[in-house]
Amino acid sequence: MEINVSQQLKAHIGYVREYDIEDYIDILGIGVDIQVEGKVKLTKTNRGLLVQGTLRAKIPVECSRCLKVFEFPLIIKLEEEYFPVIDVNSGTPLETPDEIGIFTIDEHHILDLNEAIRQNALLAVPMKPLCRADCAGLCQTCGKDLNKGQCDCEISDIDPRWAKLVNLASAGKKVKKHKKEME
Ligand SMILES: [Zn+2]
Ligand SMILES: [Zn+2]
Repeated sequence: MEINVSQQLKAHIGYVREYDIEDYIDILGIGVDIQVEGKVKLTKTNRGLLVQGTLRAKIPVECSRCLKVFEFPLIIKLEEEYFPVIDVNSGTPLETPDEIGIFTIDEHHILDLNEAIRQNALLAVPMKPLCRADCAGLCQTCGKDLNKGQCDCEISDIDPRWAKLVNLASAGKKVKKHKKEME
């Protein structure tokens, strides 16, 4: 998504213009263009243009519990200042702030939103996505998707740290039973 902002750069500080965004962008950097929709607002600042907006995209992610791939509704928040590399009136080069990763408006007054969208999209991707809040996940023993029903290995599902206790408990029962028989 590229916007020619020569008019906004000539405008007074505080000048606002809004844009509807509907574009296909490879926001995950995996060679797949994903539809991105929303609104952005460009506000003239004393140094350049402030880009603010909220965009939506549906991205394919793997559920961290059941490993099913599902569409996650991503909300991408943008708030970035863009700095022009040349003065729009005189055409003379401008110093841009000496910071890593700043966004610039090129010498043709083109503001390219894609990189900002990509970076903020990656921040919005959840670390441990869930296909639904109560996803039951997979059985650790047989790998069955427990959302589709229980498997037959509940007993062996016991954490190995508890297994000893379980053995002791059942041994205890046997001892008691044995005692009763003795009486
Ligand atoms: Zn799941
Ligand atoms: Zn199982």
